[in-house]
Amino acid sequence: MAENLNGQILIIGAGHAGGSVAALLRQYGWTGPVLLAGAESRPPYQRPPLSKGLLLGKVTLQELQLKPDNFYAERGIDLACGRQAIAIDRVARQVRFETGEPVNYDHLVIATGARLRALDVPGNALDGVMSLRTADDALKLRAAVRKGLRVAVVGGGFIGLEAAASALQAGAEVRVIERESRLMARVASRELSEFVAGHARAHGITIEMNASVCRFIGTAGQLAAVELADGRVFPCDLALVGIGVLAQQSLAESAGLACEDGILVDARAATSDVRISAIGDCSRRPVPLFERSARLESVHNAVEQAKQVAARLCGKPVTAAEAPWTWSDQFDLRLQIAGLISPTDEVVMRGDPAAGSFAIFHVSQAGVLRAVEAVNAPMDFAFARMAIGRRLQTPPARLRDPTVALKELALN
Ligand SMILES: Cc1cc2nc3c(=O)[nH]c(=O)nc-3n(C[C@H](O)[C@H](O)[C@H](O)COP(=O)(O)OP(=O)(O)OC[C@H]3O[C@@H](n4cnc5c(N)ncnc54)[C@H](O)[C@@H]3O)c2cc1C
Repeated sequence: MAENLNGQILIIGAGHAGGSVAALLRQYGWTGPVLLAGAESRPPYQRPPLSKGLLLGKVTLQELQLKPDNFYAERGIDLACGRQAIAIDRVARQVRFETGEPVNYDHLVIATGARLRALDVPGNALDGVMSLRTADDALKLRAAVRKGLRVAVVGGGFIGLEAAASALQAGAEVRVIERESRLMARVASRELSEFVAGHARAHGITIEMNASVCRFIGTAGQLAAVELADGRVFPCDLALVGIGVLAQQSLAESAGLACEDGILVDARAATSDVRISAIGDCSRRPVPLFERSARLESVHNAVEQAKQVAARLCGKPVTAAEAPWTWSDQFDLRLQIAGLISPTDEVVMRGDPAAGSFAIFHVSQAGVLRAVEAVNAPMDFAFARMAIGRRLQTPPARLRDPTVALKELALN
């Protein structure tokens, strides 16, 4: 594609990945038509503040926009909001939409994100049972939360815990119900899980571990309680279900693209069809530093893959692979995680959890730094992230030693 910068690029999904790739294509010199079509009624916006600043009333929806209102028109990007794609015809190189004419493409970028995993239990459609993925969800949640409201958060992952912290700060009584034996079990180490659970409890959040919701109980269509598989019943006025997401891959699957818990792409975000790329939460990609593939649900991943596609299509060099990273804000904690955590890695603690600022390093058996979980330790995080990208090999004792500057380790 690099030789023809005039072709028509169609991007399906106007979220963080779709909005970023549209902007980067223009930045890198694409001169042909770019159509960015998204199912939501809004231009691309940032989702992370939905469970943090927006719920707390610290930022407005306008401030969450990825780009200013006039950005797309000024750059000749045709932004079509409220347009849901329903089929891809790879032979005709055409996409059909729920409304309006089909659109042809020379290159198609699928950036359809993820959809919420449903909690398939009786009562899940009662008024008061909510979820959080879109700006509309966040606005609805913010309008409902008030002083004294009894909130049950089902799922102790990042989003559930962030929303729990925000609801508590708004005066609600909050109970987190987690099926596993610890919080954030999918993405965090046991050490971090325990610290975060202690912190949340100290702020007044009740946490039930090993607790599985079996039904929501209602009165006249309104949520009144949540029942657990062990028979316990907790009265509540609002339940927020946050039990993870699934790749939004049905369009790609129906079109015969290779999918496996995500649309399969290579290290430059190309799918099994050379005319189609897939980026962001909907894709499963190789993670070069870790010799494995993963579906990464993060802003960093969305932007990195957007860069890969824009660079590839415009004939620019692709930037070197970086360690994947993400963050979470809960009360006064800023958690930052880079790399991928493996249960076989050695855990090395730097700093004192009791002081509220520390970093947990994960070192492979070969002595390579593989991941960091930093708590209110942004400098440790920044240098460790760099060091992971460089596959730093260092004795764990040096990481643990506060007199050894991480900067020296990362840059040497
Ligand atoms: C509440 C919340 C908090 C988060 N916090 C963090 C955080 O702190 N740090 C972090 O790194 N990440 C965070 N994330 C994750 C991060 O927001 C996502 O990884 C990122 O938005 C992925 O971008 P995306 O473009 O792939 O998907 P999305 O942003 O989900 O965008 C996909 C878009 O495609 C549209 N779409 C889907 N199907 C179609 C179709 N058929 N036709 C047209 N359009 C379609 C969808 O409507 C959606 O607008 C958070 C997510 C949420 C929900």
